[in-house]
Amino acid sequence: NPMEDRISDIGPRHYGEFLPPVIKENKGKWLYHEILEPGVLVHVAEGGAKVFTVRCGSPRLLTINGIRDICDVADKHCDGFVRFTTRNNIEFMVDSEDKVAALKATLKTYGNQFPVGGTGASISNIVHTQGWVHCHTPATDASGPVKAVMDDLFEYFGTMSLPAHIRIALACCLNMCGAVHASDIAMLGIHRKPPMIDNERITGVCELPLAIAACPLGAVKPAKVEVRGEEVKSVKVNAERCMFCGNCYTMCPAMPLADPEGDGIAILVGGKVSNSKSEPKFSKLVVPWLPNNTPRWPEVVSTIRKIVEAYAKDAHKYERLGEWAERIGWEKFFEKTGLPFTEKSIDDYRLAYNTWRTSTLFKY
Ligand code: SF4
Ligand code: SF4
Repeated sequence: NPMEDRISDIGPRHYGEFLPPVIKENKGKWLYHEILEPGVLVHVAEGGAKVFTVRCGSPRLLTINGIRDICDVADKHCDGFVRFTTRNNIEFMVDSEDKVAALKATLKTYGNQFPVGGTGASISNIVHTQGWVHCHTPATDASGPVKAVMDDLFEYFGTMSLPAHIRIALACCLNMCGAVHASDIAMLGIHRKPPMIDNERITGVCELPLAIAACPLGAVKPAKVEVRGEEVKSVKVNAERCMFCGNCYTMCPAMPLADPEGDGIAILVGGKVSNSKSEPKFSKLVVPWLPNNTPRWPEVVSTIRKIVEAYAKDAHKYERLGEWAERIGWEKFFEKTGLPFTEKSIDDYRLAYNTWRTSTLFKY
């Protein structure tokens, strides 16, 4: 095969090169794992080999110095190996129990930089999307609200005191590259106003047919408009049809829809991807909109705390948040959490005569 020896710098190196020896040697032979204490796991293989893992929270957006610190700990205790979980927790692994105490002692010397936890019936790191700095369609920030919420819920990271684990996620627009549709608690950035069309720039920066084709609801149509006395080609938006998704803006920078008053966060709860005990579930909308009250999003933080506390007090052991809400009934969910129920939590597609904005995700 002429391609076999081709040297390429495209893509990362194969992950297999970075596995600790004990993981490599026991590939496919792992029997079970246990949580020894909050944040500390043991995995046991067929032949008796063990891996002890100390899981630490991370702020997700890391400084170079922070990465150097992680590498220093990994060099000192883990032969240079370290891994990140899908929730951006940092996992330091050692191959015998007596090395765990020394590893934990080193982590302690960094103060609060490496909090140990995030296992079992806890609230682990919150997954989130890109936010205001890195993406073009966000209706809220990502790391900002997540930092504020996790700071408030930090007591649940290092303990396993909840009935079951709570997975929290944030996506900063309803394109949802953060997969908030199946989380116990989800923060979802939503726009509430249609795109604003910059007729002066539009033909210079956009391919109009692409902007028109980008709209999933057929709300963008070609139009002729007057700019400084001259007729120019542009588009018009049927505002009643628009669900504020931002797809047209992805194609056409002259159709921005971010708006300080329109944008905010919706809260959805009760989703899960696991099929343990009950089938996987989609999250359901319980709070239609909260403001982007920067820098600490107090309304979002206090709403999520209310949900967590009501669940912690009332749910059975091992019952996930959505299972609890279904057992007690959603009416009781609103009573116990103290959240007001609104018509925006009702799908009324039968009323879709002139708008498709009738589902709970974009009912404005
Ligand atoms: Fe961009 Fe939306 Fe993903 Fe946020 S959720 S990073 S706005 S695509
Ligand atoms: Fe269509 Fe979405 Fe643009 Fe609205 S925001 S016009 S629904 S593409």
